Amino acid sequence: MSISNTDPIQRPVVVLAEDEPATRALIARQVSAAGFDVRAYENGRLALDGLRDLETALIIADWHMPEMDGVALCRAVRELREAHALRSCFFLLLTAESEVESIVEGLEAGADDYLTKPYHRQELLARLRAGQRINELQQLLWGRQVELERVNAQLGHMAKRMEKLANTDALTGLSNRRHFFERADEQWSLARRHDHPFSCVMFDIDHFKRVNDTYGHAAGDHVLREVAALIRAEVPKSDVFGRIGGEEFCVMMFAAQADGAAQTAERLRSMVESAHLAFEGREIPVTLSLGVAERSERHDSVEALIADADQLLYRAKESGRNQVWVSSGGGTRFAPGAAVAS
Ligand code: GH3
Ligand code: MG
Ligand code: MG
Ligand code: MG
Repeated sequence: MSISNTDPIQRPVVVLAEDEPATRALIARQVSAAGFDVRAYENGRLALDGLRDLETALIIADWHMPEMDGVALCRAVRELREAHALRSCFFLLLTAESEVESIVEGLEAGADDYLTKPYHRQELLARLRAGQRINELQQLLWGRQVELERVNAQLGHMAKRMEKLANTDALTGLSNRRHFFERADEQWSLARRHDHPFSCVMFDIDHFKRVNDTYGHAAGDHVLREVAALIRAEVPKSDVFGRIGGEEFCVMMFAAQADGAAQTAERLRSMVESAHLAFEGREIPVTLSLGVAERSERHDSVEALIADADQLLYRAKESGRNQVWVSSGGGTRFAPGAAVAS
């Protein structure tokens, strides 16, 4: 019998516990002549110690022994099995013919089989061989279980990777559009439930088509990656940040009011403007237009808030690009180009 696992089935060892020297010697001789490896001990305690380094064993235990009797050994072995210290074992209890109650007790303690003394050599060996077959099956099962657990762990790992791939924009490593909206919606619900301020910053790279046309598509990709990385480093990790279109990005600022969000937006604008992005030795001027909106009663969904920020982004484009527009009750302006929508 073989298993697909690299762990080979080991040849069972017979662990014999018998306090009576003559019987112990006789059983050891018979069992060994039948091709088993025998370890013989004079009580249960010593037999238990002898089991410690084994993964599989056939155990023959006398009922009455000093120190630890057969039933106590049987219980101790069951604990080893439950702790997976013993992967497979077969427990044969030796009893005197008169001890019907002990047979019941022994089987209930976890013995797999019993043999009454005086026993027939052929019967003992037949029962041991049956036990060996059971051991081999147990080991086969064990091997399959190990394999199953390995495959399961691999599947779990793959599922995690697939989920990450499905949620990530391959170019920038940011949340992709679908994942962005999913997370934005969660933040939206949270902000509403706890009545936290919540702001949205939409931004778009100015004249990006020109970047592609002038420096090539690879340079365009490089600019997208660089802008994403610059901004990722500036906004808190907890803020939901995604690439929601070709050169269009959105940051959800939890707990931020319009003014604070607009100040951050202005900082991002100024940072990108002065970043001196370059590709293959050529500097590429890059600027952003940004629109900032804060959640209010007018918004019945996160999409409505994003649409507002998008409108303001459009105003920033119309008004000359490279600027921040914000919708707010106040009249804050942000240098050099920030404006407040009326
Ligand atoms: P505006 O200032 O009005 O935003 O002008 P724009 O040129 O940035 O906008 P437009 O929408 O006309 O062009 C966007 C360009 O972005 C067109 C498209 O080819 C390019 N683009 C979209 N996705 C990618 C991408 O993944 N890589 C590169 N290199 N270019 C992209
Ligand atoms: Mg005895
Ligand atoms: Mg653009
Ligand atoms: Mg665009």
